[in-house]
Order: sequence, then C-alpha cells, then structure tokens
Amino acid sequence: MLNIVIFGAPGSGKGTQSERIVEKFGLNHISTGEVLRTEIKNGTELGKTAEGYISQGQLIPDALMIDILASVLDHFKDSKGVIFDGFPRTTRQAEALKVMLNERGQDVSVMIDLDVPEEELMDRLIKRGQQTGRADDNEETIKKRLVVYQTQTAPLKDFYRNEGTYYHINGVGSMEEIFGKITEALEKVK
Ligand code: AMP
Repeated sequence: MLNIVIFGAPGSGKGTQSERIVEKFGLNHISTGEVLRTEIKNGTELGKTAEGYISQGQLIPDALMIDILASVLDHFKDSKGVIFDGFPRTTRQAEALKVMLNERGQDVSVMIDLDVPEEELMDRLIKRGQQTGRADDNEETIKKRLVVYQTQTAPLKDFYRNEGTYYHINGVGSMEEIFGKITEALEKVK
C-alpha cells in the first residue's frame, strides 16, 4: 500500500502532480476540494454549507471534513494506495487520518511537501482564476487562503517530520522536473 499525502499551499501544484502520480502508479486519488466543488455544483445541502466557507477562503470544519474523507475512503477498500490531495489541512485531520488508516492496518507512507514561494503562488492562482473561473481564485480570497495555510496547515510539516514521513520538494520548476523528483521519492518508499 502506497498512501501519499500530497501537501503544499494553494497553487503549489498538488492537483496537477496528483494526476501524473495516478497515471504512473495506478493509485486512487482523493481531492477534498474537488469533492466539495462537485457537491456545490450539484446543489446538495453539503455543497451549500461548504460554499459559505470556501468563498471566504476558510476551512470546512474538521468534524464535517473527516466524515467526508471517511466515506470516500470506504470506496477504496481494494486499492493499491491512495493520494490524499488537500487533506489533511489541520492537525486534527492528520490525527484522524492516521487513526482511519491504522484501523485498516495501514499508515501514510510519505508526505510530499511541494514548497513554492508566496509571490509565485499568488501569480499562479490569479492566472488559474482567469483561465478556469474558479470562484475562490480571486486576489482577496487567495490572500485569506494563504493566511489559513500558514496558520492552520503549515504546522503539519512538523507532524509528519515527527512521523518520519516528511519529504520536501522544491515546487518551482517545470511540471516534468517536479514530477521526476516526486517519482524519485516514491521509488524510495515503495
Ligand atoms: P482545494 O481545491 O484543495 O484548494 O480546496 C478548496 C477549498 O475547499 C479550501 O479553500 C477549503 O475551503 C475547502 N477544503 C478543501 N479541503 C479541505 C480540508 N481538508 N479541510 C477543510 N477545508 C477544505
């Protein structure tokens, strides 16, 4: 089982690199942001709740997010491994993920931290907003999301350092270059 947490600030390339990892290693992919955007598109109750937080650049409450993750994970019982993209984002979520995986006799194999400086994140997200129309990719919301990342999510680096599964990658460069470094990291833990 290869369970990967792909980690980094908004705009660090988690989604793009996850697609490539899925292709090469045949893993399942959970993007909590995608799950929530689908709920919003479908106009569900969960979508309505999530939209309020997302549009403000805030995190969905942990208890709700952990329930969502658990139900998606249940669909992947016979998986070769899972890429967790956008989850965990708080220490409470990281602890819950550990419990969920331990209950299945598993754990996080590696946490890949895609490290990108803030000015570059801002440029990438503004561009993405123009290209895709994604509602939370506007300057005001991006700034809030980056603060949330620094205060609530970045401390998870220490959580995974303590677990012995932290792997730092410089996330600036071409997609191929970065994917090459990720592949190297994954070959080591496989
Ligand atoms: P993303 O597509 O991963 O950038 O997520 C978009 C938005 O969805 C975030 O800014 C949060 O509002 C929400 N979200 C996604 N994943 C989580 C999570 N693990 N915990 C809390 N909120 C989340």
